[in-house]
Amino acid sequence: MEISQQYMTQLNDTITQLMQKWPHLQPILHAFAPFLYLKHRLLKEKLFQTASQIKIHTASLNQGTPLIQENPPQISEEVFNELARLLLTAMKEGFPSISNELDSLANELTAGRMKMGDLLSLQSNAVSNPAVKNAIGIQVLQLFTAMLQNLILTQWRAEVFATPTALNWSRGTCPVCGNLPVLSVSRGKGRPWLYCGTCGQEWQFPWAKCPACGQEQHSEAPYFFIEGEKDEKAFVCRNCNRYLLSVRRYEDEGNLNLDLLAMSLIHLDILMQQQGLLPMNFCLWNDFRGALKSA
Ligand SMILES: [Zn+2]
Ligand SMILES: [Zn+2]
Repeated sequence: MEISQQYMTQLNDTITQLMQKWPHLQPILHAFAPFLYLKHRLLKEKLFQTASQIKIHTASLNQGTPLIQENPPQISEEVFNELARLLLTAMKEGFPSISNELDSLANELTAGRMKMGDLLSLQSNAVSNPAVKNAIGIQVLQLFTAMLQNLILTQWRAEVFATPTALNWSRGTCPVCGNLPVLSVSRGKGRPWLYCGTCGQEWQFPWAKCPACGQEQHSEAPYFFIEGEKDEKAFVCRNCNRYLLSVRRYEDEGNLNLDLLAMSLIHLDILMQQQGLLPMNFCLWNDFRGALKSA
């Protein structure tokens, strides 16, 4: 079996296992599975004209300039439209309740009325037709643009780092896109790896230091975990009142999809947000503020 197919099977198996182990995850996994499959399928493609030629400047990284700032992803309008179309199809499968709104977005796209630049910078004026904008609703538009940005940045990053490249980076924000992480992953000894939920990059960062504000945590370990699940924790920074989900992985567990790992911890997201804490970074599925307020 080719590697890609093997990984796809593994992704599918993991989703099934998670659904069996945690029935509360079923809705979120059903919603995002088509998107995760799409992201993975695309990784075989080459969609960015200049990604493989990007020069990585150590001096810029040392100064804390994320890669994307000096090298914005270059993508043709045609490829962009195709990605947006593929995404809308995956979203319709995952989010059937908003399928009419997604159809309206698809129509705008086909008619050439969606602006690539605005969509990439997450501008809500990406849809210029006021009638369509009113009919769609800001949450659907935000979900679509965030997923599109995630798809594009993940793909771009994978093409830039087609050959593994060590980056000299010491910050808590992502060296590629500059966003804060959504997950911390410990593998064996040594510093844990932070995972960027926006572009998929991982980088090492010290224990007990807050990626957002840099505060070092002393003495009493500010961790929360659920009894019986000690490998899954939430690190809390009392200085900036943010938390970071953290998991320990073992060698024999293979290379699990980190989006899925982060999703499997949403019970900790809810617990932390109930205490008024914010995640290091909001991602596609971890914003429970509205739900908690109305509960
Ligand atoms: Zn990133
Ligand atoms: Zn902090």
